[in-house]
Amino acid sequence: MRTMSAVWIENDPIPLERERKIERETHKLEKRLCRLVGQAIGDYDMITAGDKVMVCLSGGKDSYALLDILLKLQRRAPVSFDIVAVNLDQKQPGFPEHVLPDYLKALGVPFRIEEQDTYSIVKDKIPEGKTMCSLCSRLRRGILYRVASELGATKVALGHHRDDIVQTFFLNMFFGGKLKAMPPKLQSDDGRHVVIRPLAYVPENDLVRWAAHREFPIIPCTLCGSQENLQRRQVGEMIRGWDRKHPGRVDNLFHALQNVVPSHLADGTLYDFKGLTATGVPDAQGDKAFDEDEFPASATLPALQVIKL
Ligand code: SF4
Repeated sequence: MRTMSAVWIENDPIPLERERKIERETHKLEKRLCRLVGQAIGDYDMITAGDKVMVCLSGGKDSYALLDILLKLQRRAPVSFDIVAVNLDQKQPGFPEHVLPDYLKALGVPFRIEEQDTYSIVKDKIPEGKTMCSLCSRLRRGILYRVASELGATKVALGHHRDDIVQTFFLNMFFGGKLKAMPPKLQSDDGRHVVIRPLAYVPENDLVRWAAHREFPIIPCTLCGSQENLQRRQVGEMIRGWDRKHPGRVDNLFHALQNVVPSHLADGTLYDFKGLTATGVPDAQGDKAFDEDEFPASATLPALQVIKL
């Protein structure tokens, strides 16, 4: 006997088709995330055999996605490594302390919740109305490095993504007068840890979609009551605007960070401008000082239109 639900499904092919499309899109998204994370790990040798990777979990979409993708890759990685998740409970008012332990227990991942009341310290030291983030993150960093040592972690993984890296690049240029971004891999300031950013190639949009699909139990980052840094917000809006109007531009910006030409900047510590002399040997890569630079046409900059008059 045919059930009522079978009749509904057969008589209404559009939702089924839509469902299949969503499934296909989600499958593609998962494949893309795994590919981009795997590629970044490989390109920078972020994880090697026997590593114990401490994944810093804040409760935001990025760190949930980081843990999620690393767990997927761990099952098929060419090298064997361990994962331990760590959350720092900073004792912000209203922090739902059961959410992360419940989530991690259900996943079966080894984890540690470190409780440290940095919230009171920051509140005490920073005058009302001033942004608390810089002291807060400094305190958090110190605690997480200590926990990494206690856990014997060989790598500390953070959830910064491609757009965070590009955003930091512009913040440093606009407000710090420095050509400096956020590296995919670095040595911690205490010199004792290697910090990695496996999401370095991942656009933020993909993480938003993945978080919605996986229904991560997101903990809002506004519990501390701190205002988001105005400059960071402005630069973030600028980058998101570019991504909407000129798809491909943020990717190009990120690729530029991997394709630096010191001889065509102006930093005498990276390139010996003073010692530069004509060698008499032609160089195909040398500067054609009188020519205009050539850039790809609309294929990589789809929103660019050439209007012929
Ligand atoms: S938003 Fe709040 S919790 Fe996050 S870094 Fe700033 S002060 Fe700390």
